[in-house]
Order: sequence, then structure tokens, then C-alpha cells
Amino acid sequence: MGYAYLVLGIQIVQYILFELKLAFYIDIPGEDLIMFMWALRVMVVTLDQDRFIETMEEQAKIGATENGGLHRLTLSNEDKEIRDWFYDQMEAEGLDIRIDEFGNMFGRRDGEDPDKETVLIGSHLDSQPYGGIYDGALGVISALEFIRMLNDEEITTEHPIEIVNWTNEEGSRYQPAMQGSGVWAGTHDIEDEYKKTDEDGVRFEDELERIGYKGDVPAAPTEDYEGYLELHIEQGPYLAEANMDVGIVTGIVGFSWGAITYYGDADHTGPTPMRYRSDALVGAADVISQIRRIPGMLGERTVGSTGYMDVKPNSINTIPGEVTFTWGFRDPDDDVVQEAFDRVLAEAQAAAEREGLDWEWEERMRASSVDFAQENINAVAEATDKLEYDAMKIFSGAGHDATHAADVMDTSMVFAVSENGKSHTEEEFTSWEHCYKAANTLANAGLELAGETEREA
Ligand SMILES: [Zn+2]
Repeated sequence: MGYAYLVLGIQIVQYILFELKLAFYIDIPGEDLIMFMWALRVMVVTLDQDRFIETMEEQAKIGATENGGLHRLTLSNEDKEIRDWFYDQMEAEGLDIRIDEFGNMFGRRDGEDPDKETVLIGSHLDSQPYGGIYDGALGVISALEFIRMLNDEEITTEHPIEIVNWTNEEGSRYQPAMQGSGVWAGTHDIEDEYKKTDEDGVRFEDELERIGYKGDVPAAPTEDYEGYLELHIEQGPYLAEANMDVGIVTGIVGFSWGAITYYGDADHTGPTPMRYRSDALVGAADVISQIRRIPGMLGERTVGSTGYMDVKPNSINTIPGEVTFTWGFRDPDDDVVQEAFDRVLAEAQAAAEREGLDWEWEERMRASSVDFAQENINAVAEATDKLEYDAMKIFSGAGHDATHAADVMDTSMVFAVSENGKSHTEEEFTSWEHCYKAANTLANAGLELAGETEREA
């Protein structure tokens, strides 16, 4: 409330001073500062809380699961349904809608200045199998509510604003994740991605056509953009642990994913003496336990896991002759990712020597960390200041569509508090209060970038 009193105080002082100015034709000391404070006041906006929550509940009905989660896989019938619904909502707000060749959905609200570049705001409406109702959807609904608020309040902006629903962020039915934004940003070739098939062998392009969302606009930036903003749930525990209202995201972690294969001697587990054995699984076990320990030696935010293992012949009565397993390390600092990579290979070499194994390795994916643009980070930080929310800067431990957007334009994100740090499960939870605070932050940051033209006080 302190900010509201400050605004009221400024209004009173301003009124008195300007009356004096008009009456006596005098210059007022500090006039510029007062005008600056006035401009700040004009830009604070809040969304309609009831409608925002109702809209979140409405979207969560499409693909709802029995346990309060969401099963809305990309290009499924549920995805078509939520897309149709979102289309209607955008149409009702008078947005100029376009669907690109990869199914990405854009809704445009014109700006006052034809020379100004567009501000893009969005996330994704698809979900994980039996996922939560907030992952992705919160970002799209918040962008929609931002537009509704601008329309209700008759606020005009210098820059055009576009809201977006990216195709297949989740990557569970078709890989990779963040596919639509990746194609749009030019990271993936559209023809390669069209050919991808799901578990049942159904082609991506065929499914996109079937649900009626293969548009005719090129899946590429068709103009220069001012910047991108995305609201997403944190999907980790850091904001809740620190008792924050909202997170100001400064970047996205880099990572290294790869696989190691050990070749030992498959043999009978009974008659073979221990000194004769070259057990590929024993080598793997040694390295996997190190993959667990390496992050603790490197940094506070370093994480590492083995998520996959294939054991051959995988029989209770045979010494494992061949084992393939994976590593995955992430950290905000690319040098730390490199260090984790170096260490896991050194551990793998040592384990191979101990157990008498041949081995090979392959790094399957390496991504540099993404540092978001200072101007956009500042816009988010200023929004939390104006709204008097407790906020802290945070690095994203997961990839988002913002990763690809950042290749094309200045980008930042807003994180909503994940109550228990969980996501990609029906247990995913963010309180409506935290959803609303994150959405208000997005709205004010968006308005900052788009430049409000004028509004009656
Ligand atoms: Zn997501």
C-alpha cells in the first residue's frame, strides 16, 4: 500500500504546484521529477483477478484429468480444442490472428506508432502426459488477460503487441521440446520437423493438418521484434524456499547430455571366478554414482543425473556384457558444464581400467546458457517494484520457448512460484495469488516495453 500513498501524495503536491504555476507564472523547482513520478504512476496496471482465475479454470477443463491435472498432448484432439478456444478468445478481443505453417498461433494488437517494433508475449498450451494445469497455460492466459485489460481500460501503446501460443513446447509426443519456437527462430528445419513421427508412427505434418492448424504464414519472424516476454511457473523450489512473490528470470542454464557404453564379457554368473570378470554394469554403477557426486563438487546450481540405462543381456544369470547409460549436467555457467563433462569422462576412463572394459562415449547435445537482455530483465524488475512484490533474480533450470526467442530478439521471463517445486505431474501447484502476482508483473513489464501512449488518470 505504501506505493499508493506515495502516488496520492505526489498527486496532491502536483496539484498545488501546478495551480501556483498557473496563477503566478512561476517555474517550479523539481517539476521534472514530479512529472517523472507522475509518468510512473500512470503505468501501474493490474488485471481483473476474478476473470483471470476463471479463465485459468476454463482452459484447465480442456484435457482435464481425474486428479486435477492436464493431459493435452500436442496436436491431439484436446490440443485442437484448446486452440479453437484460444482462437475465439483472441477474436473476441479484436486481435488480428495468424497461424503459421508450424501451427504457432499469433494475435496482434496494433500500436499507435507504425515505426515501432512489435512486443511478443506468450508461452504454450500443450501439456505433458498427465501434467499440471499451470505449465505453459499460465503464460498464455496471462498474455490474453493483459490484452483484455488494455482493451477494457482503452490503453493504447506505441508498439504493437502480439500474443503467441507456441506449438509443441513439451516434446513428449514429438521430439524435440520447444519445437515450434525452434522452427520459428530458425534453429530447426521445418521439413525435418514435419517428418517426425510419434510412437504410433503418425507424422507431425499429417497431425497438424488433421487438426486444421497448418497455417499459411511462414514459420519465421516476419518482421523485426522489440522483445519477447514469457511468464512460466518456476518448476523448482527456489522462489518458495525464499518466500518470494515472483521471480525475475535472468537466463537459462546450459547443459551437456551424452551417453557412455561399456563392453565387458558376458558370461555365466556361477562358474566364472570373480578375478575373470569384466562386468559392464559394475563400471556403469561406479560412473553413475559419480554423476550424482560431481555437481556437489562444482557449484550450488549444478545438477546431474543418469536418466537412461540399457543392460545387455539383462538376465539374472549372466554377467552384463554391454551397458549404455546417459549423463545430463546443467549449470548457469558454461565453464562449469564443461568441467562436469571433463570429470565424467575421467571417471569413465578410471572405471573402465578398474574393471577391464572397452568403452566409448558420445555427447548427444550441448547447449550454452542463455543470458537474457538487460532491458527486458529491468522491465520485469521495475514491474515488481511498482507492484511492491517481493522478487528475486533467478536462473531457469529448464528450457523454455524463451530460449529460442532469445536468438531472435531481446528476451526475459517472469517466474511464478511453484508451491512444491514439482511439475510435469498432476501434483504441480501454484496458488491463485502467486499466479495473479506473476501475471500482473508480466502486464506491467509488457506495458513498459510496449510504451503506453496516454491514459486519463
Ligand atoms: Zn512449459
